[in-house]
Amino acid sequence: MDNATRKCPYCAEDVPSAAVRCRYCRSRLTALDPADWYRDHPDRRLAGVAVAVARALALPVGVARVAFIALAFFHLLGPIIYGALWVVIPFARGEVSPFERAVGWLRTLLGQGARQGEGPRSARSGSGDAPRPVPGAPEA
Ligand SMILES: [Zn+2]
Repeated sequence: MDNATRKCPYCAEDVPSAAVRCRYCRSRLTALDPADWYRDHPDRRLAGVAVAVARALALPVGVARVAFIALAFFHLLGPIIYGALWVVIPFARGEVSPFERAVGWLRTLLGQGARQGEGPRSARSGSGDAPRPVPGAPEA
């Protein structure tokens, strides 16, 4: 695993698979990999959102914390973004986020999963003229 390499998508040099940043062109390599967004880091202070952002974006943790605090002075954006990220970032690697958990819980509550049978993707506008089922609507 440690010896595995891959091509940097920006400069085509071989870099270690676990690298967060390319050592040749300094491009960030894993910022958009959803598996790298999780909050359970040993150096987390509150909910781990700042650490998760810092790790995923290859920033120092202090920079992310200061950014959240600084954003609190602009219409309370810091706490709002922090809360929003807490909702969508899972706690541990491979876990579902609180948002996904809430959606699954709601779907179970409304009986959506049992009634549609084929999962949420089947409700996409495939046929065109069939109206989408409204969540929470009374059954006909
Ligand atoms: Zn590179």
